Amino acid sequence: MTTTIATGSATDTGRLRSANEDAKLVEDRLYAVADGMGGHQGGEVASKLAVDVLRHEYGDSSSDALLEAAHKANQAVYAKASESSDLRGMGTTLCAMALVGDGDDEELAWVHVGDSRIYLLRDGTLTQLTTDHSLVEDLRRNGQLSAEEAAVHPQRNIVTRALGIDPDVVIDTDAVTPFTGDRFLLCSDGLFNEVEPDDLVSILRRYSDPEEAATELVHLANEHGGRDNITCIVIDVIDDGGRSLAASQAIGDDPTSLESQPVARPVGYDDEAGDGQVDVTRAVASVPTAPTGRGSRDDELWDKAVVAESEDHLGGDLRHARIRRITWRVVAFLFALLLIAAGGIGAIGWTARHTFYVGLRGDQVTIFRGHPGGDLWFKPTVEQATSIRRATVPKARLNDLVKGKQQPNMGDARRYVNNLRDEIDSLAPPTTAPPTTAPPTTAPPTLVPPTLVPSAPAPTLAPPSVAATIIPAAPAGPPATAAPPP
Ligand code: CA
Repeated sequence: MTTTIATGSATDTGRLRSANEDAKLVEDRLYAVADGMGGHQGGEVASKLAVDVLRHEYGDSSSDALLEAAHKANQAVYAKASESSDLRGMGTTLCAMALVGDGDDEELAWVHVGDSRIYLLRDGTLTQLTTDHSLVEDLRRNGQLSAEEAAVHPQRNIVTRALGIDPDVVIDTDAVTPFTGDRFLLCSDGLFNEVEPDDLVSILRRYSDPEEAATELVHLANEHGGRDNITCIVIDVIDDGGRSLAASQAIGDDPTSLESQPVARPVGYDDEAGDGQVDVTRAVASVPTAPTGRGSRDDELWDKAVVAESEDHLGGDLRHARIRRITWRVVAFLFALLLIAAGGIGAIGWTARHTFYVGLRGDQVTIFRGHPGGDLWFKPTVEQATSIRRATVPKARLNDLVKGKQQPNMGDARRYVNNLRDEIDSLAPPTTAPPTTAPPTTAPPTLVPPTLVPSAPAPTLAPPSVAATIIPAAPAGPPATAAPPP
Protein backbone atom coordinates (compact mmCIF):
# COMPACT_ATOMS: atom_id res chain seq x y z
CA MET A 1 0.00 0.00 0.00
CA THR A 2 1.67 3.18 -1.15
CA THR A 3 0.32 6.67 -0.85
CA THR A 4 0.64 8.78 -3.94
CA ILE A 5 0.74 12.51 -3.57
CA ALA A 6 0.60 15.46 -5.92
CA THR A 7 1.59 18.93 -4.83
CA GLY A 8 1.43 22.50 -5.93
CA SER A 9 2.76 25.62 -4.28
CA ALA A 10 3.00 29.36 -4.65
CA THR A 11 4.55 32.23 -2.78
CA ASP A 12 4.45 35.95 -3.27
CA THR A 13 5.79 39.06 -1.58
CA GLY A 14 2.34 40.61 -1.61
CA ARG A 15 1.44 44.18 -2.46
CA LEU A 16 2.90 46.07 0.47
CA ARG A 17 6.07 44.27 1.51
CA SER A 18 9.37 44.87 -0.17
CA ALA A 19 10.71 41.38 0.43
CA ASN A 20 9.37 37.93 0.88
CA GLU A 21 10.32 36.60 4.30
CA ASP A 22 8.38 33.40 3.77
CA ALA A 23 10.12 30.22 2.71
CA LYS A 24 8.67 27.00 1.42
CA LEU A 25 9.95 23.51 0.90
CA VAL A 26 8.39 21.01 -1.47
CA GLU A 27 10.39 17.82 -1.62
CA ASP A 28 9.51 14.24 -2.19
CA ARG A 29 7.52 13.34 0.93
CA LEU A 30 8.52 16.52 2.84
CA TYR A 31 6.75 19.88 2.74
CA ALA A 32 7.19 23.00 4.83
CA VAL A 33 6.20 26.63 5.12
CA ALA A 34 8.17 29.07 7.27
CA ASP A 35 7.28 32.70 7.93
CA GLY A 36 10.29 34.66 9.10
CA MET A 37 10.35 37.63 11.43
CA GLY A 38 12.88 39.96 12.91
CA GLY A 39 13.37 42.67 10.38
CA HIS A 40 14.07 42.68 6.72
CA GLN A 41 17.20 40.60 6.76
CA GLY A 42 16.53 38.50 9.81
CA GLY A 43 13.17 37.26 8.67
CA GLU A 44 14.42 36.04 5.34
CA VAL A 45 17.42 34.33 6.89
CA ALA A 46 15.45 32.66 9.64
CA SER A 47 12.76 31.15 7.41
CA LYS A 48 15.22 29.98 4.78
CA LEU A 49 17.56 28.54 7.37
CA ALA A 50 14.74 26.70 9.07
CA VAL A 51 13.55 24.89 5.94
CA ASP A 52 17.11 24.17 4.82
CA VAL A 53 18.01 22.59 8.14
CA LEU A 54 14.73 20.70 8.20
CA ARG A 55 15.44 19.21 4.79
CA HIS A 56 19.02 18.41 5.68
CA GLU A 57 18.31 16.91 9.08
CA TYR A 58 15.21 14.96 8.20
CA GLY A 59 16.52 11.42 8.10
CA ASP A 60 14.49 8.30 8.20
CA SER A 61 10.87 8.50 7.22
CA SER A 62 9.24 8.84 10.64
CA SER A 63 7.36 11.38 12.69
CA ASP A 64 10.14 11.29 15.29
CA ALA A 65 12.66 12.20 12.62
CA LEU A 66 10.47 15.08 11.51
CA LEU A 67 10.18 16.39 15.05
CA GLU A 68 13.90 15.98 15.59
CA ALA A 69 14.64 17.88 12.39
CA ALA A 70 12.35 20.70 13.52
CA HIS A 71 14.25 20.92 16.80
CA LYS A 72 17.50 21.04 14.86
CA ALA A 73 16.05 23.88 12.79
CA ASN A 74 15.21 25.77 15.97
CA GLN A 75 18.73 25.30 17.30
CA ALA A 76 20.22 26.42 14.01
CA VAL A 77 18.18 29.61 13.82
CA TYR A 78 18.84 30.35 17.47
CA ALA A 79 22.58 29.84 16.98
CA LYS A 80 22.62 31.99 13.86
CA ALA A 81 20.73 34.78 15.64
CA SER A 82 23.22 34.65 18.48
CA GLU A 83 26.17 35.04 16.12
CA SER A 84 25.25 38.37 14.62
CA SER A 85 23.86 41.56 16.05
CA ASP A 86 22.10 42.16 12.72
CA LEU A 87 20.17 38.95 13.11
CA ARG A 88 19.56 39.08 16.83
CA GLY A 89 15.95 38.42 17.69
CA MET A 90 15.10 36.82 14.39
CA GLY A 91 12.81 33.84 14.34
CA THR A 92 10.43 32.00 12.17
CA THR A 93 7.25 30.01 12.20
CA LEU A 94 7.40 26.51 10.82
CA CYS A 95 4.76 24.10 9.75
CA ALA A 96 5.98 20.98 8.04
CA MET A 97 4.43 17.79 6.85
CA ALA A 98 6.02 14.51 5.85
CA LEU A 99 4.76 11.23 4.51
CA VAL A 100 6.16 8.81 7.05
CA GLY A 101 6.11 5.07 7.60
CA ASP A 102 5.49 2.61 4.85
CA GLY A 103 2.91 0.23 3.54
CA ASP A 104 -0.23 0.09 5.64
CA ASP A 105 1.28 2.41 8.23
CA GLU A 106 1.91 5.41 6.02
CA GLU A 107 0.83 8.67 7.60
CA LEU A 108 1.19 12.35 7.02
CA ALA A 109 3.02 13.56 10.11
CA TRP A 110 3.23 17.23 10.87
CA VAL A 111 5.06 19.63 13.15
CA HIS A 112 4.08 23.17 13.93
CA VAL A 113 5.39 26.26 15.73
CA GLY A 114 3.99 29.78 15.29
CA ASP A 115 0.99 31.01 13.37
CA SER A 116 1.36 29.37 9.99
CA ARG A 117 -1.33 26.79 9.48
CA ILE A 118 -2.06 23.32 8.18
CA TYR A 119 -5.57 22.66 6.95
CA LEU A 120 -7.20 19.48 5.74
CA LEU A 121 -9.99 19.51 3.17
CA ARG A 122 -11.76 16.17 3.45
CA ASP A 123 -15.21 15.39 2.10
CA GLY A 124 -15.67 19.07 1.33
CA THR A 125 -14.99 20.18 4.89
CA LEU A 126 -11.97 22.31 5.75
CA THR A 127 -10.40 21.60 9.14
CA GLN A 128 -7.52 23.49 10.67
CA LEU A 129 -5.17 20.85 12.06
CA THR A 130 -2.86 23.28 13.83
CA THR A 131 -3.52 25.74 16.62
CA ASP A 132 -1.96 29.17 16.24
CA HIS A 133 0.69 30.07 18.77
CA SER A 134 -0.37 33.68 18.78
CA LEU A 135 -1.60 36.34 21.14
CA VAL A 136 -5.04 36.57 19.57
CA GLU A 137 -5.46 32.79 19.66
CA ASP A 138 -4.65 32.80 23.39
CA LEU A 139 -7.18 35.58 23.90
CA ARG A 140 -9.73 33.73 21.84
CA ARG A 141 -9.26 30.53 23.81
CA ASN A 142 -9.59 32.48 27.06
CA GLY A 143 -12.90 33.81 25.79
CA GLN A 144 -11.60 37.38 25.56
CA LEU A 145 -11.99 37.52 21.80
CA SER A 146 -14.41 35.97 19.38
CA ALA A 147 -13.05 34.20 16.33
CA GLU A 148 -14.28 37.13 14.23
CA GLU A 149 -12.54 39.67 16.48
CA ALA A 150 -9.34 37.62 16.47
CA ALA A 151 -9.34 37.54 12.66
CA VAL A 152 -9.15 41.33 12.44
CA HIS A 153 -7.29 42.11 15.64
CA PRO A 154 -4.46 44.67 15.10
CA GLN A 155 -2.04 42.52 17.06
CA ARG A 156 -2.87 39.30 15.30
CA ASN A 157 0.67 39.17 13.92
CA ILE A 158 2.16 38.64 17.38
CA VAL A 159 3.21 35.05 17.85
CA THR A 160 3.76 33.43 21.21
CA ARG A 161 6.05 30.69 19.99
CA ALA A 162 8.60 30.58 17.19
CA LEU A 163 11.79 28.87 16.11
CA GLY A 164 15.04 30.64 16.96
CA ILE A 165 13.93 32.62 20.00
CA ASP A 166 15.08 30.13 22.63
CA PRO A 167 17.52 27.23 22.52
CA ASP A 168 14.59 24.91 23.06
CA VAL A 169 11.01 25.19 21.91
CA VAL A 170 7.82 23.24 22.34
CA ILE A 171 6.78 21.90 18.96
CA ASP A 172 3.26 20.65 18.27
CA THR A 173 3.15 17.41 16.35
CA ASP A 174 0.58 14.92 15.15
CA ALA A 175 -0.19 12.68 12.18
CA VAL A 176 -3.07 12.08 9.85
CA THR A 177 -3.91 8.89 7.99
CA PRO A 178 -4.21 10.02 4.37
CA PHE A 179 -7.13 8.93 2.22
CA THR A 180 -7.68 9.39 -1.46
CA GLY A 181 -9.23 12.78 -2.08
CA ASP A 182 -7.69 14.43 0.97
CA ARG A 183 -6.26 17.86 0.23
CA PHE A 184 -3.88 19.48 2.70
CA LEU A 185 -2.99 23.16 2.72
CA LEU A 186 0.10 24.56 4.40
CA CYS A 187 0.13 28.37 4.45
CA SER A 188 1.48 31.48 6.08
CA ASP A 189 -0.75 34.05 7.74
CA GLY A 190 -0.52 36.25 4.66
CA LEU A 191 -3.09 33.92 3.15
CA PHE A 192 -5.70 33.39 5.83
CA ASN A 193 -5.54 36.96 7.10
CA GLU A 194 -6.73 38.06 3.67
CA VAL A 195 -8.92 35.22 2.50
CA GLU A 196 -12.08 34.16 4.30
CA PRO A 197 -12.41 30.48 5.20
CA ASP A 198 -15.34 30.09 2.80
CA ASP A 199 -13.18 31.39 -0.03
CA LEU A 200 -10.39 29.02 0.94
CA VAL A 201 -12.81 26.12 0.69
CA SER A 202 -14.27 27.39 -2.53
CA ILE A 203 -10.91 27.61 -4.27
CA LEU A 204 -9.64 24.35 -2.87
CA ARG A 205 -12.74 22.64 -4.18
CA ARG A 206 -12.81 24.39 -7.52
CA TYR A 207 -9.24 23.88 -8.70
CA SER A 208 -8.39 20.23 -9.06
CA ASP A 209 -4.79 20.96 -10.02
CA PRO A 210 -2.87 21.65 -6.80
CA GLU A 211 -0.52 24.08 -8.53
CA GLU A 212 -3.41 26.10 -9.87
CA ALA A 213 -5.17 25.97 -6.52
CA ALA A 214 -2.07 27.33 -4.76
CA THR A 215 -1.61 30.04 -7.37
CA GLU A 216 -5.23 31.06 -7.16
CA LEU A 217 -5.09 31.27 -3.37
CA VAL A 218 -2.12 33.63 -3.55
CA HIS A 219 -3.86 35.61 -6.26
CA LEU A 220 -6.96 36.03 -4.13
CA ALA A 221 -4.93 37.10 -1.08
CA ASN A 222 -3.35 39.80 -3.23
CA GLU A 223 -6.73 40.86 -4.53
CA HIS A 224 -7.89 41.26 -0.97
CA GLY A 225 -4.97 43.55 -0.13
CA GLY A 226 -1.82 41.44 -0.11
CA ARG A 227 -0.58 43.17 3.03
CA ASP A 228 1.80 40.39 3.95
CA ASN A 229 3.88 37.75 2.23
CA ILE A 230 1.72 34.92 1.04
CA THR A 231 2.79 31.29 0.79
CA CYS A 232 0.83 28.12 0.34
CA ILE A 233 1.47 24.48 -0.47
CA VAL A 234 -1.37 22.25 -1.61
CA ILE A 235 -0.86 18.53 -1.04
CA ASP A 236 -3.26 16.12 -2.70
CA VAL A 237 -3.61 12.47 -1.78
CA ILE A 238 -4.42 11.09 -5.19
CA ASP A 239 -4.10 7.44 -4.25
CA ASP A 240 -4.06 5.92 -0.79
CA GLY A 241 -3.14 2.48 -2.08
CA GLY A 242 -6.50 1.03 -1.12
CA ARG A 243 -6.46 2.30 2.45
CA SER A 244 -9.89 3.90 2.23
CA LEU A 245 -11.23 0.71 0.67
CA ALA A 246 -9.78 -1.33 3.52
CA ALA A 247 -11.20 1.17 6.01
CA SER A 248 -14.62 0.90 4.46
CA GLN A 249 -14.45 -2.86 4.67
CA ALA A 250 -13.20 -2.70 8.21
CA ILE A 251 -16.30 -0.80 9.29
CA GLY A 252 -18.49 -3.58 8.12
CA ASP A 253 -19.31 -3.01 4.52
CA ASP A 254 -19.88 -5.99 2.36
CA PRO A 255 -16.63 -6.30 0.40
CA THR A 256 -18.36 -7.77 -2.59
CA SER A 257 -20.80 -4.92 -2.82
CA LEU A 258 -17.92 -2.47 -2.47
CA GLU A 259 -15.93 -4.22 -5.17
CA SER A 260 -18.86 -3.84 -7.45
CA GLN A 261 -19.06 -0.09 -6.92
CA PRO A 262 -18.52 1.40 -10.35
CA VAL A 263 -17.31 4.81 -9.24
CA ALA A 264 -14.43 6.48 -7.42
CA ARG A 265 -11.95 3.66 -7.64
CA PRO A 266 -8.59 5.38 -7.63
CA VAL A 267 -6.66 4.76 -10.78
CA GLY A 268 -3.33 5.98 -9.53
CA TYR A 269 -0.80 8.63 -10.13
CA ASP A 270 -0.36 9.20 -13.78
CA ASP A 271 1.96 11.73 -15.32
CA GLU A 272 0.68 10.96 -18.74
CA ALA A 273 2.00 14.05 -20.45
CA GLY A 274 5.45 13.53 -18.93
CA ASP A 275 5.54 17.17 -17.92
CA GLY A 276 5.70 16.56 -14.20
CA GLN A 277 2.08 17.54 -13.91
CA VAL A 278 -0.36 15.11 -12.56
CA ASP A 279 -3.70 14.67 -14.14
CA VAL A 280 -5.48 14.88 -10.84
CA THR A 281 -8.94 14.89 -12.27
CA ARG A 282 -8.18 11.59 -13.87
CA ALA A 283 -6.17 10.23 -11.00
CA VAL A 284 -8.51 10.98 -8.15
CA ALA A 285 -11.45 9.12 -9.41
CA SER A 286 -12.50 7.25 -12.46
CA VAL A 287 -15.86 8.77 -13.04
CA PRO A 288 -17.21 7.34 -16.24
CA THR A 289 -18.98 10.48 -17.38
CA ALA A 290 -16.28 12.95 -16.39
CA PRO A 291 -13.79 14.37 -18.87
CA THR A 292 -10.52 12.53 -18.53
CA GLY A 293 -8.02 15.03 -19.85
CA ARG A 294 -6.86 18.26 -18.31
CA GLY A 295 -9.14 20.71 -19.87
CA SER A 296 -10.14 24.27 -19.44
CA ARG A 297 -10.64 25.83 -16.06
CA ASP A 298 -14.35 25.34 -16.48
CA ASP A 299 -13.74 21.63 -16.98
CA GLU A 300 -11.67 21.52 -13.84
CA LEU A 301 -14.20 23.44 -11.84
CA TRP A 302 -16.73 20.93 -12.93
CA ASP A 303 -14.30 18.04 -12.44
CA LYS A 304 -13.58 18.98 -8.89
CA ALA A 305 -17.22 19.13 -8.12
CA VAL A 306 -17.69 15.78 -9.71
CA VAL A 307 -14.83 14.27 -7.74
CA ALA A 308 -16.30 15.59 -4.54
CA GLU A 309 -19.75 14.52 -5.55
CA SER A 310 -18.54 11.18 -6.77
CA GLU A 311 -17.00 10.62 -3.37
CA ASP A 312 -20.28 11.67 -1.86
CA HIS A 313 -21.92 9.44 -4.38
CA LEU A 314 -19.79 6.52 -3.29
CA GLY A 315 -20.55 7.30 0.31
CA GLY A 316 -24.17 7.65 -0.63
CA ASP A 317 -24.13 4.31 -2.37
CA LEU A 318 -22.54 2.69 0.62
CA ARG A 319 -25.05 4.33 2.87
CA HIS A 320 -27.86 3.32 0.59
CA ALA A 321 -26.45 -0.17 0.36
CA ARG A 322 -26.39 -0.30 4.11
CA ILE A 323 -29.92 1.05 4.27
CA ARG A 324 -30.99 -1.40 1.60
CA ARG A 325 -29.54 -4.28 3.53
CA ILE A 326 -31.15 -3.07 6.72
CA THR A 327 -34.41 -2.53 4.93
CA TRP A 328 -34.43 -6.01 3.46
CA ARG A 329 -33.41 -7.50 6.74
CA VAL A 330 -36.14 -5.62 8.49
CA VAL A 331 -38.66 -6.59 5.83
CA ALA A 332 -37.60 -10.23 5.98
CA PHE A 333 -37.75 -10.14 9.74
CA LEU A 334 -41.19 -8.54 9.75
CA PHE A 335 -42.34 -10.97 7.10
CA ALA A 336 -41.13 -13.89 9.20
CA LEU A 337 -42.90 -12.42 12.19
CA LEU A 338 -46.06 -12.06 10.15
CA LEU A 339 -45.76 -15.65 8.95
CA ILE A 340 -45.29 -16.86 12.47
CA ALA A 341 -48.18 -14.74 13.69
CA ALA A 342 -50.39 -15.82 10.80
CA GLY A 343 -49.38 -19.44 11.36
CA GLY A 344 -50.15 -19.14 15.04
CA ILE A 345 -53.49 -17.51 14.37
CA GLY A 346 -54.23 -20.09 11.71
CA ALA A 347 -53.39 -22.92 14.09
CA ILE A 348 -55.53 -21.40 16.80
CA GLY A 349 -58.34 -20.87 14.34
CA TRP A 350 -58.04 -24.40 13.00
CA THR A 351 -58.02 -25.80 16.51
CA ALA A 352 -60.97 -23.60 17.45
CA ARG A 353 -62.96 -24.88 14.51
CA HIS A 354 -62.01 -28.52 14.99
CA THR A 355 -62.60 -29.07 18.68
CA PHE A 356 -65.86 -29.44 20.51
CA TYR A 357 -67.18 -29.31 23.99
CA VAL A 358 -70.34 -30.14 25.78
CA GLY A 359 -71.65 -27.33 27.89
CA LEU A 360 -74.70 -25.48 28.94
CA ARG A 361 -76.65 -22.97 26.88
CA GLY A 362 -79.12 -21.54 29.25
CA ASP A 363 -80.38 -24.64 31.00
CA GLN A 364 -79.95 -26.84 27.95
CA VAL A 365 -77.01 -29.23 27.50
CA THR A 366 -75.46 -28.28 24.20
CA ILE A 367 -72.59 -29.39 21.99
CA PHE A 368 -70.42 -26.43 21.00
CA ARG A 369 -67.76 -26.11 18.32
CA GLY A 370 -64.63 -24.45 19.68
CA HIS A 371 -63.09 -24.01 23.09
CA PRO A 372 -64.97 -22.91 26.19
CA GLY A 373 -64.56 -19.13 26.32
CA GLY A 374 -63.22 -19.02 22.76
CA ASP A 375 -59.72 -18.40 21.33
CA LEU A 376 -58.73 -14.91 20.26
CA TRP A 377 -61.70 -13.85 18.15
CA PHE A 378 -62.79 -17.43 17.44
CA LYS A 379 -65.90 -17.66 19.60
CA PRO A 380 -67.56 -21.04 20.21
CA THR A 381 -70.64 -21.73 18.17
CA VAL A 382 -73.60 -23.98 18.88
CA GLU A 383 -73.12 -27.22 17.00
CA GLN A 384 -76.02 -29.23 18.36
CA ALA A 385 -78.62 -28.65 21.01
CA THR A 386 -79.88 -31.59 23.12
CA SER A 387 -83.03 -32.23 25.03
CA ILE A 388 -81.13 -32.73 28.27
CA ARG A 389 -81.99 -30.09 30.84
CA ARG A 390 -79.59 -28.79 33.42
CA ALA A 391 -81.86 -29.86 36.25
CA THR A 392 -81.53 -33.52 35.29
CA VAL A 393 -77.74 -33.54 35.10
CA PRO A 394 -76.13 -35.49 37.92
CA LYS A 395 -74.28 -33.21 40.32
CA ALA A 396 -71.01 -35.00 39.63
CA ARG A 397 -71.28 -33.98 35.96
CA LEU A 398 -72.72 -30.54 36.36
CA ASN A 399 -69.44 -28.85 37.16
CA ASP A 400 -67.88 -30.27 33.97
CA LEU A 401 -70.74 -28.95 31.90
CA VAL A 402 -70.62 -25.51 33.49
CA LYS A 403 -66.94 -25.27 32.59
CA GLY A 404 -67.45 -27.03 29.27
CA LYS A 405 -66.40 -30.63 28.82
CA GLN A 406 -64.00 -30.68 25.91
CA GLN A 407 -64.13 -33.38 23.25
CA PRO A 408 -61.67 -34.02 20.47
CA ASN A 409 -64.36 -34.41 17.81
CA MET A 410 -68.06 -34.31 17.21
CA GLY A 411 -68.43 -38.09 17.54
CA ASP A 412 -66.94 -38.06 21.00
CA ALA A 413 -69.12 -35.10 21.92
CA ARG A 414 -72.19 -37.04 20.87
CA ARG A 415 -71.05 -40.12 22.78
CA TYR A 416 -70.52 -37.98 25.84
CA VAL A 417 -74.06 -36.71 25.52
CA ASN A 418 -75.38 -40.25 25.08
CA ASN A 419 -73.49 -41.47 28.08
CA LEU A 420 -74.76 -38.52 30.05
CA ARG A 421 -78.26 -39.37 29.00
CA ASP A 422 -77.73 -43.01 29.99
CA GLU A 423 -76.40 -41.91 33.32
CA ILE A 424 -79.40 -39.70 33.92
CA ASP A 425 -81.71 -42.50 32.93
CA SER A 426 -79.91 -44.94 35.17
CA LEU A 427 -80.45 -42.65 38.10
CA ALA A 428 -84.13 -42.49 37.39
CA PRO A 429 -86.31 -45.02 39.27
CA PRO A 430 -86.22 -48.29 37.32
CA THR A 431 -89.47 -49.04 35.56
CA THR A 432 -88.33 -52.33 34.20
CA ALA A 433 -86.07 -55.09 35.41
CA PRO A 434 -82.42 -54.21 34.97
CA PRO A 435 -80.92 -55.76 31.93
CA THR A 436 -78.61 -58.65 32.43
CA THR A 437 -76.15 -57.52 29.88
CA ALA A 438 -74.07 -54.41 29.65
CA PRO A 439 -74.84 -51.98 26.89
CA PRO A 440 -72.71 -52.17 23.81
CA THR A 441 -69.39 -50.51 24.22
CA THR A 442 -69.69 -49.02 20.83
CA ALA A 443 -72.09 -46.32 19.98
CA PRO A 444 -73.86 -47.35 16.84
CA PRO A 445 -75.55 -44.62 14.91
CA THR A 446 -78.91 -45.94 15.96
CA LEU A 447 -78.08 -44.82 19.45
CA VAL A 448 -78.12 -41.20 18.42
CA PRO A 449 -81.23 -40.04 20.09
CA PRO A 450 -83.80 -38.81 17.72
CA THR A 451 -84.15 -35.86 20.06
CA LEU A 452 -80.83 -34.53 18.93
CA VAL A 453 -81.20 -31.96 16.29
CA PRO A 454 -78.67 -33.02 13.72
CA SER A 455 -76.84 -30.20 12.07
CA ALA A 456 -74.11 -32.40 10.77
CA PRO A 457 -74.22 -35.82 9.24
CA ALA A 458 -74.35 -38.43 11.93
CA PRO A 459 -71.44 -40.81 11.92
CA THR A 460 -72.25 -44.01 10.20
CA LEU A 461 -70.25 -46.03 12.65
CA ALA A 462 -68.41 -44.56 15.58
CA PRO A 463 -65.26 -46.45 16.50
CA PRO A 464 -64.59 -47.63 20.02
CA SER A 465 -63.79 -44.55 21.95
CA VAL A 466 -62.49 -43.26 25.19
CA ALA A 467 -65.95 -42.17 26.06
CA ALA A 468 -67.03 -45.77 25.82
CA THR A 469 -64.62 -46.80 28.52
CA ILE A 470 -65.95 -44.37 31.04
CA ILE A 471 -69.39 -45.78 31.01
CA PRO A 472 -70.29 -46.01 34.66
CA ALA A 473 -70.32 -49.42 36.24
CA ALA A 474 -73.82 -48.82 37.46
CA PRO A 475 -76.47 -50.93 35.86
CA ALA A 476 -77.26 -49.61 32.50
CA GLY A 477 -80.52 -47.94 31.88
CA PRO A 478 -83.08 -48.98 29.42
CA PRO A 479 -82.25 -49.16 25.76
CA ALA A 480 -81.85 -46.02 23.84
CA THR A 481 -85.23 -46.45 22.34
CA ALA A 482 -86.52 -45.64 25.80
CA ALA A 483 -85.12 -42.16 25.64
CA PRO A 484 -87.58 -39.53 26.54
CA PRO A 485 -89.50 -38.13 23.68
CA PRO A 486 -88.77 -34.60 22.67
CA1 CA B 1 3.59 36.60 7.69
